[in-house]
Amino acid sequence: MEKLIDGKLISKALIEEISRETKEFVAKGGKKPHLAAILVGNDGASETYVNSKIKMCLEVGFDSSVIRCTSTITEEQLLKKIEKLNTNPDIDGFIVQLPLPRHVSELKVIEAINPQKDVDGFHPANIGRMALNLPSYLPATPFGIYQMLEKSGIETEGKNCVVIGRSHIVGSPISILLARNSNPGNCTVTLCHSKTQNLKEICSRADILIAALGKPEFITKEYIKKGAIVIDVGIHRVQDSSSPKGYLIKGDVKFDEVEPLVSKISPVPGGVGPMTIVALLKNTLLAAQKKVYAY
Ligand code: NAP
Repeated sequence: MEKLIDGKLISKALIEEISRETKEFVAKGGKKPHLAAILVGNDGASETYVNSKIKMCLEVGFDSSVIRCTSTITEEQLLKKIEKLNTNPDIDGFIVQLPLPRHVSELKVIEAINPQKDVDGFHPANIGRMALNLPSYLPATPFGIYQMLEKSGIETEGKNCVVIGRSHIVGSPISILLARNSNPGNCTVTLCHSKTQNLKEICSRADILIAALGKPEFITKEYIKKGAIVIDVGIHRVQDSSSPKGYLIKGDVKFDEVEPLVSKISPVPGGVGPMTIVALLKNTLLAAQKKVYAY
């Protein structure tokens, strides 16, 4: 049995699937999916993320647009831009790349997005629908993990799953998804955070351990039950003078130490990372097909 959960390979197959489905949908007279992204300011990382999302849209046959705003944009002006996208029938889904400048409320911005076009799945309406096991746009990283478990044929029913981290974008939603009566799902989920006591002991009972705490190589062999499945969400640049770039990409899990003990593990890089972009594409296709809010 292959131990490594290869996010690159799984995402490649999913991207081909989305591309094929888009072609078929358009050939039958459906609307070509159109994703828009609002980019505020000129933060290098945000620029890179938006560019790669746009590039992937082209690859699967979607239309895409970027709405660039200066970092001095007022909250009111930004909300107006959101309203324009909400009412533009050509835009099926859109995202506002986070983080935003400090003078703009992220919550107000997220709440201003029409939930039916909220392909990032951050709107409270989508989070609420997810919790109720209703069709919704799932947030990218949890959706990516979910598909990773599904495509790897990992049996989750009845398993003890420990999630470390309770952020709104990763830990909390994946814990909800895996506790739902669905497949993947039906886990007994324990959600841990910085105030959790006896973390090591709790983790060492996990059949499935999802590390999303944002601490490089924090999870060592003492946290692992033999034969467990480990999903490493963390991404960190760790300085390393011996590597050509001067740094290495590491996860929240000390891979070399943990890998011999587990039955399956997602690596960093090449694990959860490549899966997240697929989730956004899938949500955009669903938006164009009007499959989520189909009533
Ligand atoms: P975050 O918002 O910083 O949340 C971290 C969570 O971990 C918090 O709930 C925090 O608890 C908990 N935590 C921190 N230290 C802990 C400790 N020692 N023991 C137990 N819990 C602890 O992080 P995030 O945005 O969810 O991201 C987590 C990691 O995933 C980061 O490395 C990030 O770069 C990575 N990430 C990767 C992707 C991807 O595509 N692969 C996407 C998103 C994020 P409190 O709530 O008590 O503070």
